[in-house]
Formats: sequence, structure tokens, C-alpha cells
Amino acid sequence: MTIKDNKLISLEHRNFRNDDFWKEIPAWESVTRGEFADQLWQQKNSIRKVEQVKKVLGDRIDESFYLDIVAAMHVVPMNIRITPYIFALMNWKDPYNCPLRKQFLPVKSQLLEDHPFHEADSLHEDADMPVPMLTHRYPDKVLFLPTTICPVYCSYCTRSRIIGGSTEAVEKETYGANQKKWDAVFEYLTRTPQVEDVVVSGGDAYMLTAAQIRYIGENLLKIPHIRRIRLATKGIAIFPMKVLTDDDWFNAVCDVVKLGRAFGKQVVIHTHFSSPNEITKWSQMAMDRIFSEGIIVRNQAVLQAGVNDDVETMVKLTRQVGYMNIQPYYVYMHDMVPGCEHLRTTLREGEEIEKAVRGTTAGFNTPTFVCDLPGGGGKRNVSSYEYYDEENGISVWTAPYVKPGQCFTYYDPIHKLKEDARKRWSDPKTREAMVAEAKKKAGF
Ligand SMILES: *Cc1c(COP(=O)(O)O)cnc(C)c1O
Ligand code: SF4
Repeated sequence: MTIKDNKLISLEHRNFRNDDFWKEIPAWESVTRGEFADQLWQQKNSIRKVEQVKKVLGDRIDESFYLDIVAAMHVVPMNIRITPYIFALMNWKDPYNCPLRKQFLPVKSQLLEDHPFHEADSLHEDADMPVPMLTHRYPDKVLFLPTTICPVYCSYCTRSRIIGGSTEAVEKETYGANQKKWDAVFEYLTRTPQVEDVVVSGGDAYMLTAAQIRYIGENLLKIPHIRRIRLATKGIAIFPMKVLTDDDWFNAVCDVVKLGRAFGKQVVIHTHFSSPNEITKWSQMAMDRIFSEGIIVRNQAVLQAGVNDDVETMVKLTRQVGYMNIQPYYVYMHDMVPGCEHLRTTLREGEEIEKAVRGTTAGFNTPTFVCDLPGGGGKRNVSSYEYYDEENGISVWTAPYVKPGQCFTYYDPIHKLKEDARKRWSDPKTREAMVAEAKKKAGF
């Protein structure tokens, strides 16, 4: 068989949905394309409270399903925030199985008990903070968190400990964008010459005003040793209207990119598509505008069960993102944070999907699958573990440059293990012994 006859080669990733899909939501039946295209309309009509879910859907939502969401909201660490764009793209005919609903609107019946080794700050970002809002873990790159709000709140957020305000279950010190507090970060970076690369994340750069984008951009670019800045935003994926209609914000980003270029420095955008269902003609139009300004965009996805943990979906996501001139950069193993056990996959699943994706498109458009090591070892290629006890779901890792000599572990979700392994995990002593054994096998 030649590639030409291969029925697996689908061109479906070139079809960009362009229907009036929001009109299927009872409350938005008569919303025109012009209104829906307006970023202010999107912001104003974002779903912020569980009652709104019922209000906009009317009799399109089953009472039992609605109560399932209400029950989840008592226990999950993230609040609700969903743009009408994403809300209308959810499959309300089959909400239990919808990959978009799973990402932004948890239901109690799908939640699972957290893994015994989960942590609110699983990546130990706070431990590696020399000044507030800045994680400095790697020698030449840093992670700057100027805000802790986002245009949507994701169930799988790795920073649920700070993002999006307190919930019934979790008390948080969410902070908004406060320009005055950023100066300590710029000062630290000025006196830390080994840093060349700043990830401006959060939170989401979409929530920074035009003036704040300029302030951050100019202050970072004027530090001589800073060579690269990435603005991280999920916005293009969940709210493309802002790129298309918020000219103030868009021009601020373009100006910072241009200023960088004048200094011979790179300013790029990192975005976050996790499901092909998030992609429509609007995404393509937003990307066309960004691309026409010569701005590089890369994508970071999170591997999530029932969202993108099958080869077909991941291949489609990869090729469709590439088709829009976004470079697929990373696919992350799900972090071991609270409220997410139902979304996690095993490491083996991550490896298998990476194997299948490689070869389906250009190499530079093929994402690297990584595991960001619990405890702060940093990002490692999914296949680069020292030892993997697949039966008990324990992988052992090192991070030779970031934390030399230290040993790190990542754990598969227990519900995916065989029954006898699940039993072993239920006993704290046995579980410690299994971990010790795996570390020993890895040479520790
Ligand atoms: C992810 C991350 C970075 C950037 O890492 P890349 O692999 O270059 O994308 C920088 N600092 C921290 C703390 C991070 O978690
Ligand atoms: S957009 Fe990013 S930071 Fe914000 S809730 Fe989602 S994953 Fe967390």
C-alpha cells in the first residue's frame, strides 16, 4: 500500500466550521453574527455562575445534568468562566461526552478521588520563586505570572491554587494585574544576567490591558540580556473575537513585537488549543490577522482523557493547528493537581500517542510530549524516564541540569491500573514500598 491509498489520510483538518452555531443556544437564538463577533458582547455574556448555564440553555439542559454541575461546583478548585463562543461550541446533545464541556464545566459524577501524591502546587512553582510572581527554575528562562485571571477557567488548570478566585472548596490569593508589583520582577531580572527568556503567563495575557502589555513588553525588552519573550494566552483558542475586534489590545501586542524586532529580540505568542472542537473559521481569521503581522504563534496542549487522548483527535488537532500557521510545541502530561484525576492519562498513553503523531506532518509542526515533573524537575520528554513500573503506575525521572542528583516521580491515575495494583495503592505502607522499590530500580 502506498501513502496515496491510505484511507487514514484525512483532509478534514482543512474544514473550518463557519455556521451560526450559537443560534442553537436558546438565549442566543437571535444574536446576529455581528454581535457574536464583538469581543465586548462575548465578555459581557460570558458564563460566570452555574445558574447562567441553565438560564441560557433553558429546556435544552436536563435537570439531572444541571444538578450534576451544581454538585461539582461545591468541591472543585476552579470557578466557572466560559465565553459564549466556547459555550456554544459544546455539544449540548451529548454533554456528558463533550470534550469542551469536560474542559470547562465539571460534573460531580465524573470526578474521581485525587491521587494520594497530588499537590496544589505540584510543580513547586512557589518554591522556586526568588521574588513574588516569578518562578526561576531553569538557568536562562523564567516564568512571570503578572495576573491570575483568565477569559475562561479550565478544570485542568495547573495553577488552580491561585487562578480565578476562591471556590467553596479552595481559598485562594488570586491577584489581578497590578503594575506596581511588577517592578520587583524587572529589578530581579535586571540583576540576573543569565536570564535570556521570559514566559509572560498567569493567568492570561488576554486579561492585561493594552497599557499593561506595553509596560511589561517595554520593561522586559530594555533589559539588555533578555532576548526572548513569550506572551501566553489561551485567548486565540477560546475567544478569537478579541484578536479581531479589540484593536487597542492587538496593536499593543504588535507594537511590543515590533519593538522587540528593532532590538533584534523575539516576542512571540504561546497559545493553548487542546481540542479540534475549539477550532472554527473565527480561529483561522484571528490567526490570519496575527500571521499578517509576522507574529510567531506556538501551541501548548494538555493531554486529557476524553478530550484528546486518542490518536485521531491528536493528529487532527496537530494538523489543524499547523494549517493555521501555529506551530505545535508541547503536549503536556496532565499535572498532578487537585480535581483533575478524571482527566489524567497514563504515561504509556502519552508515549503511544506521541509515537502515532510523529510522521503525520512536518517535523517542525510535531509537538513534543512532555511531563513537567512533580516537585520541580522541569519538563522532560515523556519517553525519557529512568524507570517505569507500568503495573503500579510509577515512573522515576531525573533532571540532570535543573536539579542534578535528585530523583522525581510521576504517577499514573490509579483508576486506570488493574485491580490488584489498585488494592496495593489503597494501603499507605505498601504504596511507599512500591515507590521505594521503583526508585531503587532506577538506581536511587
Ligand atoms: C515551562 C516553563 C518555562 C519555559 O520552558 P520551555 O521548555 O522553554 O517552554 C520556564 N520556566 C518555568 C518555571 C516553566 O514551567
Ligand atoms: S487559561 Fe491557563 S491559567 Fe487560565 S485557567 Fe486555563 S489553564 Fe489555567
